[in-house]
Amino acid sequence: TDAYLGAIEAATPLNTYVTVTADQAREMAKASDLKLGKGQGGALEGLPLGIKDLFATKGVLTTACSHILDGFKPPYESQVTQNLWHDGAVMLGKLNNDEFAMGSSNETSFYGPVVNPWRRNGDTTKIVPGGSSGGSSAAVAAKLCLAATATDTGGSIRQPAAFTGTVGIKPTYGRCSRWGVVAFASSLDQAGPIARDVRDAAIMLRSMAGYDDKDSTSVDRPVPDYEASLGQSLKGLRVGIPKEYRVDGMPAEIDALWTRGIEWLKAAGAEIVDVSLPHTKYALPTYYIVAPAECSSNLARYDGVRYGLRVPGKDITDMYEKTRAAGFGTEVRRRVLIGTYVLSAGYYDAYYLKAQQVRTLIARDFTEAYAKCDVLLTPTAPSAAFGIGEKTADPLSMYLNDVFTVTVNLAGLPGISVPAGLSSDGLPLGLQLIGKTFDEETLFRVAYALE
Ligand code: GLN
Repeated sequence: TDAYLGAIEAATPLNTYVTVTADQAREMAKASDLKLGKGQGGALEGLPLGIKDLFATKGVLTTACSHILDGFKPPYESQVTQNLWHDGAVMLGKLNNDEFAMGSSNETSFYGPVVNPWRRNGDTTKIVPGGSSGGSSAAVAAKLCLAATATDTGGSIRQPAAFTGTVGIKPTYGRCSRWGVVAFASSLDQAGPIARDVRDAAIMLRSMAGYDDKDSTSVDRPVPDYEASLGQSLKGLRVGIPKEYRVDGMPAEIDALWTRGIEWLKAAGAEIVDVSLPHTKYALPTYYIVAPAECSSNLARYDGVRYGLRVPGKDITDMYEKTRAAGFGTEVRRRVLIGTYVLSAGYYDAYYLKAQQVRTLIARDFTEAYAKCDVLLTPTAPSAAFGIGEKTADPLSMYLNDVFTVTVNLAGLPGISVPAGLSSDGLPLGLQLIGKTFDEETLFRVAYALE
C-alpha cells in the first residue's frame, strides 16, 4: 500500500486519482496485515485497489467528476465496494472519469483529462486513456493500483481497457449491484473490473458480483468461481464472427487484428462460424437516444437542494437554473437536452419508443446468432487511442468510437476486452468477446487463451 501511495504521488501529471485516501488505505492495510498474520483474510486481503469516482464511498468525496456534486460525501457505501472491502481489499482512492460517465476519452471530467501512460512511437503527444473509466484504465496500466472498479453503459470498461493494454469486463446486466453507483442510464449501467490480466479480472469480478435486494434489477444467481475457467480447452467451442462489424472505413490494422484473433482461436481448437447481426447499423443511434433519455431523467435530482453545489438565486427556479448551469459541463448538458427532447410529448413516439423497439430487435439478433455459436469475437474499438483534444470539437466522431461496444449494453450481455497487440505506431489494441447472458465463464476461458 505504501509503495502504491508513493507511485500515485509521483504520477500526479497523469491525473488518474481525484481523491487519494492515504490514511484510510494505511489503516485498511494494517487491519489486513493483522488478519493475514493470523492466517485469516478474504480473497482480496490487503490488495490495494482504485475506485472509480462513480461509486459511493461512505464519508469519502464522491463526485462522478461533476462540479454539481462538489463536496458530496455519501452517508453510505455502494454494494460493489462493500463487497470488495468485505473480501479484504484496500482503497487507495477515487479515480477520475468522464463527468457522470458520459464520454469516450475522459476529457469531460470537471477535474480535467486523464493522460494515458502510453505514447506513440517517437512522439510525445499526450494520448487519451479512453472513457469514461479513463482514470481506472490509466491507473491500472501505470501500476498505480493493482486493479480498479469501473462502470460500462456503452463501452466505458472495454474501450478504456483496449486503449491502455489492460483487461476489462462488463458483466451481464444484473450481475453486479447498481446500488450506490451514480446513475447515468439505469437500463444499461453495469459495474465491472479493469485489471492487468484475465486472471486478476476473474478474481476481482467474483468479489464485486452477487445478488443485492437493494437493486431491483440485480439477479439472484450464484457467482461462479471464474478463475476455474482459465486454462480450459477451447476444443469444440464455436466462435461467431459477425459480418456487420466490418464497418466502412475501418482501419486496415483493426481488420488485421481481428483476423489474427480468429487465427489464434482456431489454433487453440475453436471452430469459427460466420454469423449475422443485421440491426447493428441502428445500434449507435438507438444508444444515443436511450442513454440520453435515461440520463435526463436520472440527472433531474441534481437541483441544488439535495446534493453538492448550490448557486443562490432570486427565487427557487432561478437557483435551479444557476446551479445547473454552473454545475453541469457541456457534454452533460447536451445529453440532458437530447434526452428531454426525445422524451417530450411530441417526439416520444418518433424517437424514444422507436429506439426501444429497435433495441428489442438488436437483442433478438444476438439470440439468433447464439443458436450457431457460443461466443462472438470483434475488435473492441474502431481505432487505437487518439490524442488529447483531437476529437473534442466533434461529438459525433467521439460517439462513433462506441460502435462495437454499445450493442452489448443494449442487449444486456457480458463483454470483455483483452489486449491483442499494438498498432503500427505502438499503441495497444483490444479484441472484444461477447457472451451469452450470465456466461462470463466462457468469456474468461476464451480471453485467457487470447491473452
Ligand atoms: N462513450 C459512451 C457514452 O458516452 C459510453 C459511456 C459509458 O459506457 N459510460 O455514452
